[in-house]
Amino acid sequence: MAAANLIDGRAIADKVHEETRRQIAVLKENGIQPGLAFVRVGEDSASKVYVGMKERACANLQIQSRTHVLPDEASEKELLQLILRLNADPGVHGILIQAPLPKQIRGSAIYAAVSPGKDVDGFHPVNMGKLLLGDTSGFVPCTPAGVQILLAHSGTLIDGANVVVLGRGNIVGKPLAALLGQKAPHANATVTLCHSGTRNLVEHCRAADILIAAIGSPHFVKRDMVKPGAVVIDVGVNRVENSTAENGSKLVGDVDFDAVQTVAGKITPNPGGVGPMTIAMLLRNTVRAAADAHGIQL
Ligand code: NAP
Repeated sequence: MAAANLIDGRAIADKVHEETRRQIAVLKENGIQPGLAFVRVGEDSASKVYVGMKERACANLQIQSRTHVLPDEASEKELLQLILRLNADPGVHGILIQAPLPKQIRGSAIYAAVSPGKDVDGFHPVNMGKLLLGDTSGFVPCTPAGVQILLAHSGTLIDGANVVVLGRGNIVGKPLAALLGQKAPHANATVTLCHSGTRNLVEHCRAADILIAAIGSPHFVKRDMVKPGAVVIDVGVNRVENSTAENGSKLVGDVDFDAVQTVAGKITPNPGGVGPMTIAMLLRNTVRAAADAHGIQL
């Protein structure tokens, strides 16, 4: 069988950025510059890389960004105080708390403290609730929103499709299942949400028209788990040992790309698939937050 068509996340993200640039110009005409605050707690090296990438993306689009760093041992109270300050700052339209947080800090308490109107990550219970209700006035979490756009832009029919989402994490799997199951354009799928308790997981996967892996397990999805012609989206980011790499490791996805691309119809590369879309949706949400804060229709 011929190799699958690649779904180019970088090219599709560039299209989203073009639209975001146009919206930023509208805000500028109204004297508004969107502002995004990053909050990082501790010195986790991956978190530093991710925040750095998002800072550069902001700079490219002339979104003002500022990164606030708290020490590893910061208390939940200190972080909450910072969030309250950012909530009250009119120059800050979006707030992103970089995961993971240290053990002494409860993520649920932190995400719930961010003002829902500045919650550009879409993790606040109000925004999660709106997603479930199909209320489009909320912010949709960036990675699920990005996956939906990847599917739509690659000409994948979601309406009526059997979608299998591997992983029920709060950041990706759960909101993605809610999003694609909505009675709405680029949704209306029959969604199966699989997890570590799923029986006959391979059979579920093999029935999928669209298979989305978000479990954080390197090369978990093998060739025999994919229906010929299916669309495969690889969300996973896993660091594995690699003796030929300079730092002794490399990043791989949840999908065994080389094997699966011989059977799939379309597939995301990893890197270069979902990752760029996550950043594109973050910037888009930030611009919308700025517009909403000033009552401007984009
Ligand atoms: P998470 O919260 O840890 O959730 C992982 C989910 O996978 C859980 O529901 C877990 O099941 C399930 N799972 C784990 N091993 C499994 C197995 N062997 N069989 C079936 N299910 C299994 O993870 P997450 O935050 O959603 O992230 C998932 C992956 O996406 C990670 O690799 C993360 O780095 C990546 N990610 C990428 C982006 C991006 O922009 N590319 C953004 C966010 C996350 P249980 O619930 O039963 O434990």
